[in-house]
Parts: sequence; C-alpha cells; structure tokens
Amino acid sequence: MMLVMKFGGTSVGSAQAMRETADLILQAKQTWGRVVVIASAMGSQPVKVTDLLLRGAHAAASGDKETYKLVAAELRQIHFAAIDELLLPEGERQRILADNEAFLGRFTDLCQAVLVLGELTPRALDAISGMGEQMSIRILAAYLRQIGHPAEAIDATELIVTDNNFQAAMPLLPRTRSKTKVRIRPLLDQNIIPIVTGFIGATEYGVTTTLGRGGSDYSAAILGQALDAQEVWIWTDVDGVMTTDPRLEPTARSIPTLTYREVSELAYYGAKVLHPKTIRPCIENGIPLRIKNTFNPAHPGTVIVADDKNGNGGMKAVSAIRSLSLITIEGKGMMGVPGIAARTFGAVAHEDVSVLLISQASSEQSISFATPGVYAEKVLLALETEFATELQRQDIDRIWAEHDAAIVTAVGAGMRGTPGIAGRIFTALGNTAVNIIAIAQGSSECSISMVVSGGDMETAVKQIHALI
Ligand code: ASP
Repeated sequence: MMLVMKFGGTSVGSAQAMRETADLILQAKQTWGRVVVIASAMGSQPVKVTDLLLRGAHAAASGDKETYKLVAAELRQIHFAAIDELLLPEGERQRILADNEAFLGRFTDLCQAVLVLGELTPRALDAISGMGEQMSIRILAAYLRQIGHPAEAIDATELIVTDNNFQAAMPLLPRTRSKTKVRIRPLLDQNIIPIVTGFIGATEYGVTTTLGRGGSDYSAAILGQALDAQEVWIWTDVDGVMTTDPRLEPTARSIPTLTYREVSELAYYGAKVLHPKTIRPCIENGIPLRIKNTFNPAHPGTVIVADDKNGNGGMKAVSAIRSLSLITIEGKGMMGVPGIAARTFGAVAHEDVSVLLISQASSEQSISFATPGVYAEKVLLALETEFATELQRQDIDRIWAEHDAAIVTAVGAGMRGTPGIAGRIFTALGNTAVNIIAIAQGSSECSISMVVSGGDMETAVKQIHALI
C-alpha cells in the first residue's frame, strides 16, 4: 500500500512544526508501509520563504543592490534556526548547514546576475523561487534520519518533467511517470522515505521550472499518479473542505466526500479549496485525494473522488463571492437579433475581464452578467463604444451596472435529478426578504447561483446553509 502525503509551508515552518510533521510521517508509515512525502518551502505566516525569494529577485531586477542581501540574511536566519534546533552537532548539522548555505550562495549569485542584467526572466524566477523547497526538504530528511528512520531528500527536478512554460509549467505525464518510478521505487523497496520538493520540476533538458504558486498540491497529485498510490493526502490546518466559510456561518462543518466536479464549482465560486487543475492527475486515475488537518490528525477530513455513489441527493456546500458588479444590457430591439451576446462578451474579453455568471431573460430583452466590481467602469465604457449605433437607434435602451453585488452558490452533484431544491432555496431566501437579482444554474445541475446585493450575502449564505 502506498500513500503520498503533502505538507505545506506551515507544517515545515519551524523546528517544532517539522517535529510534528515527522511524527505524522512515521505514523502513516506504520499503517501504509510505503510513504512518499512532498514538502513546501518553510512558511509560517507572515514570512513565507517563497515570497522572500521572489522579493529579493524582483528588488534586484529593479536595480536595488541591498534588498536581496538582506533577504539572504533573513533566509539564513530562518533555516539555520531550524537546523540548530533540530539537528545534533555530532550528527548531520554541519552538513545540512553547508547544503543550505550553498543554496543561499546560489540565490545571491543569481540575484547579482539579475541586478547586473537589469532583467528578470521567467526562467531565472523559477530557478530562484524553487530554492525554498530545496532547503526545507534537506532539513526534514536529515531530522528523520536522526530519529532513526532512513529518509532521502530528492529534488523533483529529477522526477517531474515539464514543458518550458516557466512559472506555470505543465507536467509531461508519461515521461514523469517513468522517471519517478525508476528513482523512487528502489528507495521504497529499501524502506527509505523519499522527501520530495513540492512546486518544482524540470524541462527535458534539466532546466528548473515551477508549477505555479501554491504548486505543491499539484506536485503531490502528479507523484500520486506516477506511482499509482492508493491515496494522496494534502495536510492543511482545517478538517477538510467545509460546508461554508466558518467566518460567515459558525455551524459550518467538514464535508466527508466531494466529487471533482463539486470541487471545481466551489473553487470557481469563491471557496478556498484546492485548485481543480492541481488534483486532476489523481482523480482521472481513480486515486482518492484526502484533505486532512495537521492539528486534528485523527479526523478523516474530506476525500475527493471522481464519482460519489453515495451522494445523498442534496446540497453539500454554499459559497459566496462579494464585491461584484452585475452589468445589464437592456433593449426591446435586441429581441431576435443575432450576435448581441457574442459582441457583448467579445468586448468584455477584449478588456481582459472575466465573467463569473451570465443570465439572459428568454424574451431576449436583456443580458446580465457579473464581473469583479473593480472592472465595472471599463466594461461599461467598452460596451457603450461597441453598441454606440444600437444605443443611438434605441435598439438598446440602456447599459447599466448594479454595484456591490454578490454571488451565492449552492453546490452538490446530488442536486441533479432531485426536484425541489431550487424551490426550497428560494423560499428560504424569500422568508428572510433576501431579494434575488439574477439566477443561473449550470447545465450540469451541480450548482445553483444567485446574485444578491452585498448587504444580503451573509443572510443568504446562512439561510441556504441551514438547508444542507
Ligand atoms: N512554496 C510555493 C509557494 O509558496 C509552493 C507551495 O507552497 O505550494 O507558492
């Protein structure tokens, strides 16, 4: 049985956090036999090592000769404090200090090169920003060895082969699979725990790439798939995915099972869950992915699967996005005229603004759509220009925005084919006098979204949550 586990920045953020992480690794090893660990760069709020590395690099690019040196000193302090506290002087302390120092030296050299060139390429950014993981895994692996468990730090540049889209590289899965198996399997056969860098990979020619910010989850899913793991666990600081944001509704609870589609809808509609792209390699290969809480390891958390056969015909979660504008194009002359929608969204796309929800009345007399509020003015302007002739002819009567709107979305694949859910939602909102401005239901019937005014958002979330 094989388990792939990913630990984020907080779980390796200090000596104490690393000790607790090591405990969790060893417990899992006892149960599963074979465990592969992915770790992020050290990162306890407010200081995240990846952010520091990036700050140093950007400062150097802007001609600042000092900041990257100060950053190097801060990075040294963070890593050396953990090493001094965790590793015994008679053990590997000196060696790991030297390893980390070598990375800091490379960081300084690269920043100096950036300073001289006055240019920071995506490729250089990836070489610099991935160093946090390379430092943290060496400390964690050495600590595991010190407490008597064979472990080996491995740079994912040896495993994950990507395209050369620096900053957001895509894994080339067949190549990754063969390289990973060849490198990792012998270690597992010898009872060694591989401790692998999250976030990074390398091109076919060995140039370091990164998978995008927060990319360690993606690394875990890629390796889970490559190794045919039975499960992949992502450790965080909450009991999995919650039924809603607990800051809005304190009775929010964790959801035992979610499908990939439900996670995608939740992510799209504002919930802070894993980015759907990052878990696809697992889900497509039938590997369940579990989100667990380091502060409450006995809790089963939330498991994400391709298909939830026991889905109980209802809603599972409610999410909300605020600070939106609902833009409406309205006019009697729009009826039956082809191309209005295409021109509308063409103009919006031209402004590089994303549309979160669309609703069109069947009389075709209006089209409404929601965008982030900060873009409302430029979208209105673009539409007025696009439809100048129609406005003059009064085929379009007006183009206007309703500001401070919110989208509240109920999610649950079981809503498909379960009649009456929309009715219950609207009745509950009606009973508390929440006015629904627009409605959209995805054709997958996996979610129903409502636009309400910002002031009504909290009540709407509470009312819908009470129905779950
Ligand atoms: N360290 C990287 C970041 O902060 C990747 C990760 O933590 O997932 O974006």
